[in-house]
Formats: sequence, C-alpha cells, structure tokens
Amino acid sequence: MDSAVHPSAKTGSEPERIPLSALNQHLYCARRAYLIHAEGVFVANEHTVLGDLAHAAVDTPGYEHRSGWELLRALPLFSDVLGLSGKADIVEVRRDASNRISEARPVETKKGPARRWGNDQVQLCAQALCLEEMLGLPKIGSGFIYHVASAKRTEIAFDTPLRNLTISTVHAVRVSLGRPAAPVAELKPQCDGCSLRGVCLPEAAAKPANLNRLFEPREYV
Ligand code: SF4
Repeated sequence: MDSAVHPSAKTGSEPERIPLSALNQHLYCARRAYLIHAEGVFVANEHTVLGDLAHAAVDTPGYEHRSGWELLRALPLFSDVLGLSGKADIVEVRRDASNRISEARPVETKKGPARRWGNDQVQLCAQALCLEEMLGLPKIGSGFIYHVASAKRTEIAFDTPLRNLTISTVHAVRVSLGRPAAPVAELKPQCDGCSLRGVCLPEAAAKPANLNRLFEPREYV
C-alpha cells in the first residue's frame, strides 16, 4: 500500500472551496472524506488504482466531436455560489449560431457498476450546478455516469430531490471538514472496499466493550 498527502488536503479550519470529489467521499463515509480532505491521509488500494486507470483516458484536457456533441475533456469547474471546485471528466456541449454553449451535460467515468450510496449521482449533479453557474445555462436536465467495466452509460436525471440532496451535502461537507477532529470510525459495509481501513481501524471502534475486557483484573490460570 502507498500512503501520501492528498493534493486536496486542507490545513486549518473550514475550506474555502470544497473539492467536488469530497461530496462523493462524504456520502460514502464522512470519516473517509475528513481523513482525505482535512487531514491529508491517502492510501491507495486496488480500487483507487483501478479508478485512476479508468480516468487516465479523460484526464488530459482536450476536445472532440461525436454524435452531434462537442466533448470537452478534463474541464475545470467551479461554483462561487456553493463554494465548489473540481473537474469534469467530460462535458458534452452544443453551441448556438453565435458559438455560445447553449446545452451541456456532464459525464463522469467510474470503474465499476453503480454504487449504493448516492455518492456518484451527487458528484455528477454538483458538476451540473457548476456548469449552470459558469455558463449561465438554465437547469441541466441530466448527465451520465460511464461505467468502464460494462462500457455502459447510466443517465442520471437532475431532479429536485437530487438537487436538494446535492446542496445539503455541500453544506454537510463544509461543516464536517471545518470540525477539529474526524467523525468516529464506524464498521459498516463501505469499509470492505475502503483503502483507509488499515489506518482507520473501524474494528477497534466497533468492539470497545470487548477490548476493555482485555484489561479487566482476572484470575490467572
Ligand atoms: S474504514 Fe470504514 S469507517 Fe473508516 S474511513 Fe473507511 S469506510 Fe469510513
């Protein structure tokens, strides 16, 4: 395993701009988001390496045309309103007669199948909110998550519940990252694929009663 200071790590209290990826991490596990983005802890495992490989093809800025859409790769994103910054893997755009972008839809690349925590959907919706603000566009209806393993795209509608969840997640992340300490570890299904398990030690938090009994006075046998 490889451990390093994460490039988005913040020192001090509340971050000025929240990385888009922190929304994803927070919904997966608030402790993981804190350890990565507030404390600068990062540990690679097979999932993070595969994720990096999946992104390799879209991490180089550039553009191309496909099926009537112009594809912008590795496009920097921001929102002054929400205090967000990051990057979109791909933004598909169309332009009007005066070459202004009149339609846009983000496409996020993920290595595996859809995950259960709503985190990928929120990250994608946050990208759409950034694009609406940056480009002065009306509400973007949907975007796509491209699953490398199956080579399939899942369309994600940016409906009111998802928009509300995204905005509330931004606020929750800002509050969490501004706290002086990480949320306590909690053993849960997400821990199985988490690269930070070896430093987080959720098992220790899950069995304090059993651990305490180790130190209780007792008869020798
Ligand atoms: S091991 Fe579990 S509790 Fe710890 S950071 Fe990962 S997902 Fe969160």
